[in-house]
Amino acid sequence: NGNGASPVKDLFTVNSPNVVYTDETIKSKYTYCTTSVSKDEAGKYVATPKETVYDFKVERAIPKTGMMLVGLGGNNGSTVTAGIIANRRNLTWPTREGNRTANYYGSVTMASTMKLGTDAKTAKDVNIPFHDVLPMVHPNDLVVGGWDISSMNLADAMDRAAVLEPTLKAMVSKEMAAMTPLPSIYYPDFIAANQEDRADNLIAGSKACNEHVEKIRKDIADFKAANNLDKVIVMWTANTERFAELIPGINDTADNLLKAIADGHEEVAPSTVFAVACILDNVPFINGSPQNTFVPGAIDLAERHGAFIGGDDFKSGQTKMKSALVDFLISAGIKLTSIASYNHLGNNDGKNLSSQRQFRSKEISKSNVVDDMVEANHILYKEGEHPDHTVVIKYMPAVGDNKRALDEYYAEIFMGGHQTISLFNVCEDSLLASPLIIDLVLIAELMTRVSWKAEGGEYKGFHSVLSILSYMLKAPLVPNGTPVVNALAKQRGALTNIFRACVGLQPESDMTLEHKLF
Ligand code: NAD
Repeated sequence: NGNGASPVKDLFTVNSPNVVYTDETIKSKYTYCTTSVSKDEAGKYVATPKETVYDFKVERAIPKTGMMLVGLGGNNGSTVTAGIIANRRNLTWPTREGNRTANYYGSVTMASTMKLGTDAKTAKDVNIPFHDVLPMVHPNDLVVGGWDISSMNLADAMDRAAVLEPTLKAMVSKEMAAMTPLPSIYYPDFIAANQEDRADNLIAGSKACNEHVEKIRKDIADFKAANNLDKVIVMWTANTERFAELIPGINDTADNLLKAIADGHEEVAPSTVFAVACILDNVPFINGSPQNTFVPGAIDLAERHGAFIGGDDFKSGQTKMKSALVDFLISAGIKLTSIASYNHLGNNDGKNLSSQRQFRSKEISKSNVVDDMVEANHILYKEGEHPDHTVVIKYMPAVGDNKRALDEYYAEIFMGGHQTISLFNVCEDSLLASPLIIDLVLIAELMTRVSWKAEGGEYKGFHSVLSILSYMLKAPLVPNGTPVVNALAKQRGALTNIFRACVGLQPESDMTLEHKLF
């Protein structure tokens, strides 16, 4: 950590003629096996195994990376920042339950493992940290900065958030107090009116304009220069905005969106202005909130610039459980017939969501998460048939960041019987979201160093819309015309297996024939 890229260290190497290591890159030749299905004249399916050979290339030098958060002074922003500082300094603090030490629990890259293979001698699984599969930035090395419409320094913001233990806060407060968010853009119509009293750190102007785009670009460039960074990733973890109306001629194409910003059109949200600023400079931008930041014009612009975008809405608690549980039920052949989801929370996010238009963004984001699993099972569900699904969110100041989520899953089982599953999920919301912020940044950064080519072609990057981030997101944004995957296990499988492909390893199939055929 210092000037420029860190040197390379590997936990393992792949011993294969298809994988070549140089000081700069890991190159792999990878055979991607799929099954192509068609129907014959009699209407019968014909499944044809297909092989496509891809070359992958990963740059090994780990860049010095900055993470800029929009909403830095919020519960997530202040919590993730304090968490990184505590990890960097390997802090231990007393609590009434004994000492606690900094960790990255809840981060798939930092706290989960992946099976590398089977031990040649003992035939036991060899598992390695996810973080060691490919050369990745360590979160302790991230330089944190960003914007907030509230001018509070991060030590005070951390107190306002009321998430972390006082003993821990005392240990990081000096560094946190030295950090103050950059002023931000505030278009009051997009977030709840009840947020107005914290909006004291503003860039002049209350609707989109070129000056706002340019100011954000300059903020990023200045942050990069001041901290001697190779790369910056920007993430929206600011308030949930209302949906922007989709208006032909305004936000439907890249050119129209740029013109709408130049003309000061009222329907361009602050989050979209941030996205546009990042896209223009090829800075990856991720949306952690549910609103439609990525209007068609923004996606069009990202594709035009080959810039990475990802979203929407962190998948932290209730929805993460839902995308695991519904996958299990429907894959087990159990007919889920209704889901009733209630939440109450008392943090500023809950306050903002107590306003109908902002709640509506969240409701939409939370509602579609079972669609792919339902559609995949035409034995249980006729075409167009869906389980009933309702989502309620209430603001209850007393519970603070300790969000409560109550869910009832009602299902039809064998011979007309019923199964009812009731869940009560309690957790500090920001302590679940913070590790996701880290995963999103680390994986997005990595993707800027991965390229691929088909036989005879040239190396290029992945598609602008980073659907590989789906595991961390409630309403995954995917390239136009491609399927949305919500099922949690499939999302993790995609992440794991793409990482494996980049070092020339086959997907983890879980067949373990070596333990079955002898
Ligand atoms: P928060 O209200 O504590 O923080 C949001 C911050 O954004 C505030 O400090 C606010 O002043 C600031 N802000 C608002 N508009 C801004 C703008 N235009 N520019 C810069 N800053 C602005 O909320 P939180 O709990 O940190 O959550 C942040 C977002 O993440 C919310 O939209 C929430 O819905 C979403 N989210 C959170 C979770 C979770 O588990 N915590 C899960 C999914 C989604």
